[in-house]
Amino acid sequence: MRWISLIVWLAVIAQPVLADAKGAITAMKPKVTESREGAFDLSGAVRLLVGESLLKAKSPAYLPIQKRLAKEQGKELAAEEPGRKLPEEPFILVGLLKDHPALRDLEAAIKPKLPEGGLGDEGYLLEAAPGHILIGAVKPAGAFYGVQKLFELVEKGKISAARIADWPVMKMRGIHLYLTGSSLPAVESIVTELAPRLRLNQLIVEINYHFQYKSHPEVAEEGAVSREDCRRLAELGKKNFVRVIPMLNCLGHQSWADKTAKLLKAHPEFDETPNLPANNPDIYCRSWCPNHPDVNKVVFDLFDELIEAFQADAFHVGMDEIFILGGKDYRNPGEPDCPRCAGKDNAELIAKAINDYHKHLVGKRKVQMMMWGDRLLDSKTIPYGEWEASANGTAPAIKMIPKDIVMCDWHYEAPKDFPSVRFFQDQGFPVWPAGWNRVDNTVLLAGCALKNMGPKMVGYLATTWTSPESVVGGLTGDEKILKQQNISGLADSIRKGMEMAWEGSGEPSG
Ligand SMILES: [Zn+2]
Repeated sequence: MRWISLIVWLAVIAQPVLADAKGAITAMKPKVTESREGAFDLSGAVRLLVGESLLKAKSPAYLPIQKRLAKEQGKELAAEEPGRKLPEEPFILVGLLKDHPALRDLEAAIKPKLPEGGLGDEGYLLEAAPGHILIGAVKPAGAFYGVQKLFELVEKGKISAARIADWPVMKMRGIHLYLTGSSLPAVESIVTELAPRLRLNQLIVEINYHFQYKSHPEVAEEGAVSREDCRRLAELGKKNFVRVIPMLNCLGHQSWADKTAKLLKAHPEFDETPNLPANNPDIYCRSWCPNHPDVNKVVFDLFDELIEAFQADAFHVGMDEIFILGGKDYRNPGEPDCPRCAGKDNAELIAKAINDYHKHLVGKRKVQMMMWGDRLLDSKTIPYGEWEASANGTAPAIKMIPKDIVMCDWHYEAPKDFPSVRFFQDQGFPVWPAGWNRVDNTVLLAGCALKNMGPKMVGYLATTWTSPESVVGGLTGDEKILKQQNISGLADSIRKGMEMAWEGSGEPSG
């Protein structure tokens, strides 16, 4: 057979849209594609061979293809360890490169087109030929994404012969979602159904007080998730190569409109401005007092419970848009309302809080700490407004805190440049740019991240700020949900952000 080779490097080629009619997610364009003649028939009697290292480690990487083949064949299908000689009958081999000479041969053949450092942890090689499919990777995550690509190539039960190599440009491709008891099914379906297709590998779940805390049941909201719910979500994350990161808004964001969150309701003694009216008129969000002698005892118990429930290796402490600090709202000057914080410097106050949380999370619990970055940007020198940067004196805190905190650098407008993406890296911090629901914002921000890809630029984060149900509806093309305000733009932005984070392409920014 004569093989026709067509090499495509970051080229625009037509990729099949996923088979389900509702699906609005298009497949990622692989960085290397060599098209060949013939096709592999997935609907016949296909054997599944799985490399020793995936089997021994009980890796979930090959489970989706095992499930798919079992469905095609109407029976349970064993994952067999391949012998040195591969079978005559049609088979799919999934493994790490070290598991089989056929996978190493494939790597050798395609090597000149791979990046200098190799495939990396999430890259894969895929060869589809009339008699076999080979999927090889360096790490299980790569094998998992190779299997996902295989699904995307199926058309009418067949896979056109080709050699493909692909790998992500950005390491952390994340989404931020609210998690409550009622939104749990939607969050689970994002992890199991949508994340693999979007190549999404990080999920921040903002929980706050929507957890059935055992240490402080008085702060739990109605309809909160249980430890078992969180454990299950984390397990689903592992199966789908999604790291689940719990989040609790610290210090600020202790109220929203006229509703004060459960911590300050149960513990009014922690309120930074106890004399402001209870229904929060003219208050953006209440804060807790970073100097109250008992507040961290409660908060650290909450951290510990969430870390244990998710078996998390990272924790997000929120800390965006803190306007009430030092006993008063900087936008409503008046006498300070907190005897402990009155007259103190806002940068020192916020640095103390950050250092306290870091000491517990990183020092004691050994997890990675993340936070929103806006209070550490000075709106006088970095041209964002008072929301995306600080106009209340907190910015000098950036010199007073540890450099291993991941700065989630959120920006939702569409300026030509985002200087904070460079600023955080220059200051020594890992930076994770985060966009929202405008495609122009996403293209410019992710584009800025790609242009400034130092070793500390960790990826792209999609924020949602709506119900996870609406996120699912938007991403699966639910027409009713797409008519809700901003959902269409949000769904397009999430897709675009993940596409740029994986492919590394996108329209030029600036
Ligand atoms: Zn105080």
